[in-house]
Amino acid sequence: MRVAVINYTDCRPDKCRIECVNFCPVNRSGTKAIELAEVMKGKPVIYEETCIGCGICVKKCPFEAIAIVNLPDALEGEAIHRYGINGFKVFGLPIPKRGLVNAILGKNGTGKTTILKILSGELLPNFGDPELKSNPELVLEKFRGKEIQSYFKLLYDKKLRVVHKLQYVEMVGRFLKGKVSELLRKVDERGKLDEIRTLLRMDSMWNKESSSLSGGELQKLLIAASLLRDADVYVFDEPSSYIDVNERLNLARVFREVLNDKYVFIVDHDLIVLDYIADLVNIMYGEPSVYGRVSKAYSVRAGINHMLRGFLPSENVKMRDYEIKFYMKDLTEVEGTAGSSIKVSWSGIEKALPGFSLSAPGGNVKEGEVVGIVGPNGIGKTTFVKIIVGEEKADSGFVEPEVSRLSYKPQVISPFTERTVREVLEESSKDSLSSSSWFYVEVVRRFGLHKILDSSVSSLSGGELQKLLIARTLAIDADVYVFDEPSSYIDVEERYVMARAIKRVTRERKAATLVVEHDIAIHDYIADRIMVFSGEPGTRGIAESPVPLRQGLNGFLKEFGITFRRDAETGRPRANKPMSYLDRLQKERGEYYAMELAND
Ligand code: ADP
Ligand code: ADP
Ligand code: MG
Ligand code: MG
Repeated sequence: MRVAVINYTDCRPDKCRIECVNFCPVNRSGTKAIELAEVMKGKPVIYEETCIGCGICVKKCPFEAIAIVNLPDALEGEAIHRYGINGFKVFGLPIPKRGLVNAILGKNGTGKTTILKILSGELLPNFGDPELKSNPELVLEKFRGKEIQSYFKLLYDKKLRVVHKLQYVEMVGRFLKGKVSELLRKVDERGKLDEIRTLLRMDSMWNKESSSLSGGELQKLLIAASLLRDADVYVFDEPSSYIDVNERLNLARVFREVLNDKYVFIVDHDLIVLDYIADLVNIMYGEPSVYGRVSKAYSVRAGINHMLRGFLPSENVKMRDYEIKFYMKDLTEVEGTAGSSIKVSWSGIEKALPGFSLSAPGGNVKEGEVVGIVGPNGIGKTTFVKIIVGEEKADSGFVEPEVSRLSYKPQVISPFTERTVREVLEESSKDSLSSSSWFYVEVVRRFGLHKILDSSVSSLSGGELQKLLIARTLAIDADVYVFDEPSSYIDVEERYVMARAIKRVTRERKAATLVVEHDIAIHDYIADRIMVFSGEPGTRGIAESPVPLRQGLNGFLKEFGITFRRDAETGRPRANKPMSYLDRLQKERGEYYAMELAND
């Protein structure tokens, strides 16, 4: 079976010589595999039944608008939905289980949000036929005899009430009016307003106007609104976006407490959060924007481990050609420890902003060392790194030496130029695109930037822009690297590519690197030392001196009463379930962040 996908936004038959149609060997032999069609307003349509998948049109298209993949024929029976002719196609569905939390984990663009819309009843599946006029009866007929039919029967008969926290919170935010407290009072069907306010720590935002909320606050508002509704099905699409590490750990705990006995679906890229909240996980894999497939359900531990390994045993599928060994420092070729000489240091820094003050008493970063920065939003992390790179001036204190060769990825990213991805990368380093360099192989290609080299930066999606900026920052030869929240908008595989490259560049160039990050799994992988920011968000921040990873995270986790062990198979950190044997044991010992492998 073949899936042929055309990106009709990029396809411009008025600007090319219709190479796709003219060079097609099937067309030349007299049969039709691709032609310009009325239904697509004069743009080409590929007929998957006659197409032989030779890939000539894919190569000839000057806009790189065509993708064709060959899949096992048996998959056709699993087709669930297709967006239009030659559009993205998704296969398989998770089987909802009441009382268990189902997670969906996978690459961006493989259909996670699409699946959630189907499970919420917002999108009627067309089973891969975009011309099918789908309706609930037809869907139930299609699922007859399958376990999933009973779920859809209840859903379509309105016997299940659904709440859906959407992925793009900014879009929802624009339509909200009124104070947080008033908005939430209106949706409090479970009579849990005060409880949720306390659990989600919403005091400081309780009386704010919804239009003035930060991204993280808006996310919390929408999560709170979902939790207050009395529903049977709770759907959360990327709840940890925009929220800080403190809130993520808190959220994970709250979800466990509040959502038992319901159907719960959650998509997220923070493995630690997902691991803690979910019971089961379905892995989504495929080719972004072309097709995606939902795996069988695995226990959350096994599922995450299979995903990292890149092999799904139940379906006998190899998802990618390399293993993600995220943990326990697999960096054999770049390992080696940080040097002992100080590359950059600071002392006695004070900075006052209207309504906010920051103190950074002192600290340093050594040659070849990565220092991870953690702390809540609004505590001064961005202000601090801007002082280090010289974008902000401190009122007192100093940074030494004054850093001249530096490379900085700011937190807030915007399409900064009309130039192309290629131009930006070549400007940052002449051989960043030479196909034999490790940078090209392990960063450019694995980020998929090689497919968009000729796109203008102004046309990129949030994830693409983030990847380009990370790549550019890494390509520049510098003494000091600063990454402010690099994992926003990117998925687990991409975070891994990023983390690995940051560590390698830091070690090889004997640079000093600071990484502000809310995903603890990333710190665990790259940070030699951790810098914790404490104080009162929005009012006063204190940048404590960097301490060894274990000590830093130990103190940090103690505050939340969450303990972490290490997975025996992969070495990745996993939060212990509350009151489990290890949880109690580690608390007794004061060991919130274990470095040794546990025997699960
Ligand atoms: P994920 O949530 O895994 O990132 P989505 O389900 O949002 O993926 O989208 C998967 C793919 O489906 C996208 O890459 C896009 O190409 C396509 N797609 C999503 N929504 C639509 C739509 N409304 N119309 C056409 N194509 C869509
Ligand atoms: P973080 O990166 O930890 O989220 P920031 O350094 O961005 O924190 O901000 C810390 C505090 O300083 C926030 O309360 C923010 O509103 C305030 N702040 C940041 N930049 C400015 C500025 N240019 N003017 C006034 N206040 C600012
Ligand atoms: Mg999505
Ligand atoms: Mg910040």
